[in-house]
Amino acid sequence: MRFAIISDIHGNLAALQSVVERIKNENCDKVICLGDLVGYGPHPNECVEIVREIADIIIIGNHDHAAIGLTDTRYFNPHARAAIAWTSAVLTNKSKDFLAQLDFVARDDEALFVHATPCEPEKWDYILNAVDAAINFRCFKEFICFVGHSHIPVRFARFPDRHVKNIQANPLNLELENRYIINVGSVGQPRDGDAKAAFTIYNYHSDARTVELVRVPYDIESTQQAMVENNLPQFLVERLECGR
Ligand code: ZN
Repeated sequence: MRFAIISDIHGNLAALQSVVERIKNENCDKVICLGDLVGYGPHPNECVEIVREIADIIIIGNHDHAAIGLTDTRYFNPHARAAIAWTSAVLTNKSKDFLAQLDFVARDDEALFVHATPCEPEKWDYILNAVDAAINFRCFKEFICFVGHSHIPVRFARFPDRHVKNIQANPLNLELENRYIINVGSVGQPRDGDAKAAFTIYNYHSDARTVELVRVPYDIESTQQAMVENNLPQFLVERLECGR
């Protein structure tokens, strides 16, 4: 099996289109979306439409939840809050209804999919380091858990002695005696210093398993221009070109 796993699209249509093109050339059996289809970017309805079409599994993210009025945006920073207010106003009822029926968690055989954390998916905490990862390894039984949310493509392995370590290799060969938490990176607003769109491919066979982080260039300027036209915060416009 070959899975393409995308997350944190955030209404960035140009980034999503480039990633979808790339996925078409990768012969994947399934496409999985870990949420945050909307928020920040200028094309939320278009992104919901495309993800609905291409993804076999879709779960909800905190910005999707906030845009349909289910997460309190008082805890969002002012830029994110402004973008959510704009997103909420332009989302069609069709998009809202679709987002409203998404689950927090999904499973496929030996893999768990969640936007934020396996421990408390609806609390929107982050897994940023090995300590966070060690806590979260105790909350699921599957071989591997894929997350999004931080927009930073980090990977953690838990070894048979329960030691948890951050692992950077790409592609990463997975050892069957270990367990893994993999952040798949962000399609529409990368924050690891690389402005290119990111997603992850999970190759899963009986004898070998790998995860690969894929980077895809896209027309950043077209997204920025649409954000300016819609008066979205300047900070959010600028961060796309530095990937921060
Ligand atoms: Zn996000």
